[in-house]
Amino acid sequence: MDKHQRGNKAALTQPQHHDRDRAHQHHAGHQHCSGCGAYFSTGRWSWQAPPADSPCETVTCPACRRIAEHNAAGNLSLSGAFLQAHRTEIVNLIRHTEAQESKEHALERLIDIADEGERLMVSTTGTHLANRIAHALEAAYDGTAHYTYTDNETHLDVSWKRD
Ligand SMILES: [Zn+2]
Repeated sequence: MDKHQRGNKAALTQPQHHDRDRAHQHHAGHQHCSGCGAYFSTGRWSWQAPPADSPCETVTCPACRRIAEHNAAGNLSLSGAFLQAHRTEIVNLIRHTEAQESKEHALERLIDIADEGERLMVSTTGTHLANRIAHALEAAYDGTAHYTYTDNETHLDVSWKRD
């Protein structure tokens, strides 16, 4: 889209960033994701059901859309000899971190954990979870992590290495 066209009028009424994720905030009623069961109510997604008598629309939440489209907001690339020797433990830590994080922040989920050569690639639906996983790795195992935010901080790439 032409930048000029998009500006002015639209800028006053539409959010500038996270357009896709925030689009639903202007919806008056509640929403319920048919994929994961999360609810959208009072401006945020959570696992808390709204009062039963209020209208509720069935939708696909932004996290489920990202998972379906493999459209990651966070990417971690883990490497090093320590990873090879402690892979199971590290994957458990990643899954545990997701479980903790998504309790409070319903849209922060894992998309995938995949081996790519000697590396372990982890993708997430939100930057917050990627950041938290990297800090959990550093706290538990030391190593060296580099954090690179791009796209107005809507995307985070982390590389973590320990030999
Ligand atoms: Zn969902």
